[in-house]
Amino acid sequence: MNSKILEIENLTVSFDGFKALKQLNFSMDTGELRVVIGPNGAGKTTFLDVITGKVKPTEGRVLFKGRNLRSLSEHQIARFGVGRKFQTPRIYLNLSVRDNLAIAGSRAKSVFSTLWGRASTAERRRIGGLLETIGLATKADGLAGLLSHGEKQRLEIGMLVAQSPDLLLVDEPVAGLTDEETANIGDLLLALAESHSILVIEHDMEFVRQIARQVTVLHEGSVLCEGTIEEVQSDPRVIEVYLGQ
Ligand code: ADP
Repeated sequence: MNSKILEIENLTVSFDGFKALKQLNFSMDTGELRVVIGPNGAGKTTFLDVITGKVKPTEGRVLFKGRNLRSLSEHQIARFGVGRKFQTPRIYLNLSVRDNLAIAGSRAKSVFSTLWGRASTAERRRIGGLLETIGLATKADGLAGLLSHGEKQRLEIGMLVAQSPDLLLVDEPVAGLTDEETANIGDLLLALAESHSILVIEHDMEFVRQIARQVTVLHEGSVLCEGTIEEVQSDPRVIEVYLGQ
């Protein structure tokens, strides 16, 4: 297996001449939990968009599991193992929590052939384990629409894991959550990090302190600095960028 799940070299992305990312270099080991932070406009969303193939590099390259993603479509990149959780939950509100996971985990084309009632024994066991991991086992048969905002976020992270991606991209998972819900999401990501490669984009610093091992700070489309959360927080350049907001 390639020890680097992600290698990004000299990445520039221009929108009508404006460089949202500028000669950015980044790499992440397989199995790592990495948090990318940065002020508004730093390029965080564009960075994720390039990894998923939604946006193509103007210059430079993105290697995932050692393969250049340039010629692959967004759909092909997803099938190759890049999974993304968006900020806003995209769950089926009128189906049960369990059925949401069953659908996410299935590669079948028809939604209704993949509901829990038709899942195989192995798939049921896997979904049962996932319900425990995301802390929703007691709500498995309730409608997803009745979950709290924090529980919906956890369900969606579960749906992402159900797809078995090699890399989980998680975009601002705690926006708008209470302190307790935020801590629950942090615990969940730390538990998942035992067996997954995870890249989290976040700007809630309290949350970043809870989960972060290695942090990358983006600023004006480039990497400003990288290190442990302690190293990054005491870096004068980071302090200046955040105080300057
Ligand atoms: P962040 O997620 O860190 O807030 P973004 O990646 O959304 O940053 O944006 C980085 C910069 O690129 C911003 O200045 C933004 O206005 C600009 N930008 C992002 N997407 C587009 C686009 N499609 N067209 C023009 N400018 C864009």
